[in-house]
Amino acid sequence: MRKLALQLFVNWLLVSVILWSMPSRSAIPFSSGRAAQNAQLPQNLQVQTALAWFKPHISWINDEQARLTEIPAPPFAEAKRAEAVKVLLAAFGLDVHLDQAGNVIGELRGANDREIILVTAHLDTVFPAGTEIKVRREKEKMYAPGISDNGTGLASLVAIARAVHEARLKPQRTILFVADVGEEGEGNLRGMRALVDSYRDKLKAVIVLDGSGTDHVTTKALASRRMEAIITGPGGHSWSDFGIPNPISALVRGSVRFLNTRVPANPRTTFNLGQIEGGTSVNSIPFEAHLKVDVRSESEDELLRLENALRECMAAGVRDEMESSRDRSKGKLEWKVEILGSRPGGELGSDSPLLASLRAADEFTGNTSRPERASTDANIPLSMGIDALAIGAGGNGGGAHSLQEWYEPSGREVGLQRAVLTILGVSGIAAEKGK
Ligand SMILES: [Zn+2]
Repeated sequence: MRKLALQLFVNWLLVSVILWSMPSRSAIPFSSGRAAQNAQLPQNLQVQTALAWFKPHISWINDEQARLTEIPAPPFAEAKRAEAVKVLLAAFGLDVHLDQAGNVIGELRGANDREIILVTAHLDTVFPAGTEIKVRREKEKMYAPGISDNGTGLASLVAIARAVHEARLKPQRTILFVADVGEEGEGNLRGMRALVDSYRDKLKAVIVLDGSGTDHVTTKALASRRMEAIITGPGGHSWSDFGIPNPISALVRGSVRFLNTRVPANPRTTFNLGQIEGGTSVNSIPFEAHLKVDVRSESEDELLRLENALRECMAAGVRDEMESSRDRSKGKLEWKVEILGSRPGGELGSDSPLLASLRAADEFTGNTSRPERASTDANIPLSMGIDALAIGAGGNGGGAHSLQEWYEPSGREVGLQRAVLTILGVSGIAAEKGK
């Protein structure tokens, strides 16, 4: 039964590849000249070998996930974890190097190295340096900050590289297995931006492995903006200087105004006051106050509207505070709103070969997944018209970005098979090695 199903999948690949070699309506048309590969696909036993590799190696994959998760990778400090991934990818026959951004890039050269498929998993976590990260296991279930986001993606990246290596698969297009930096928060997708910058003209598809699960596929990039409002003033003593304008008071006044900004349910738009800082002691009038705000929307227009709203509210908060202060002789308040990060939106075409490849992989593995809009590394290629999607890499996870984060690997091989079939579907397969 399994064999028959595989034959059907391979047949599908053959048909798809023929279709792709015809002029395409996709944003990035796939080039022709893949006929040689078409003839070989149906006989390819190596695909079967790669698919069968995962199940007997699940505990190795789980152990690597735990080991990589325990290497801290706070924002802007991913180097140690990058080094560990580099060692693994090199052991699986890839040509590995680090780029200037700190991304680990493992190249599996295809028969056609002018076209590239990028497979990525982000290295960084949201957890600051010093966060205690020790994986606690309860039977198969693992608990640790970052164990799923993105321990799952990283372990899957190396597992897929190893499966492909041990199956002696040579892709038609070059596959780059990349552990990238700067996906979370203020990293502002800098790793992916650097990758797209370097390989832009050659990139045919980007597959992002992020977190766990197999129930969704991110095909729409959620646009977002991260901003910081900063208000400064003279500062002083709580008793003797009472009445001078207070930056924290102004920030609070402005924040309350901003909270009253209405956001539409459709297009779905959200905001979050995520971090607030300022002041030096309880009996000092502060000289500085900061507020970090995250806004997200299905519409770029709404993002712009909220950005303007934040500026107007902070200006009004400062004005209110100045007007109510009794003593303006010692100085006034200054304010500014800085953009910390901006993630562009975009959408994968419904007729893209990449989506067709994922759908076929879902069908083969008996998986169903719903398309979703989210903010991931796929935002960057999608915003530039390059085919990209993000998927969970199997198993189950929860509590992302919290200290209670967990991962449970049941059904993990389905996620891995789904991912590898999606990748090979767009890379294609070249002639067998070693025969
Ligand atoms: Zn993630």
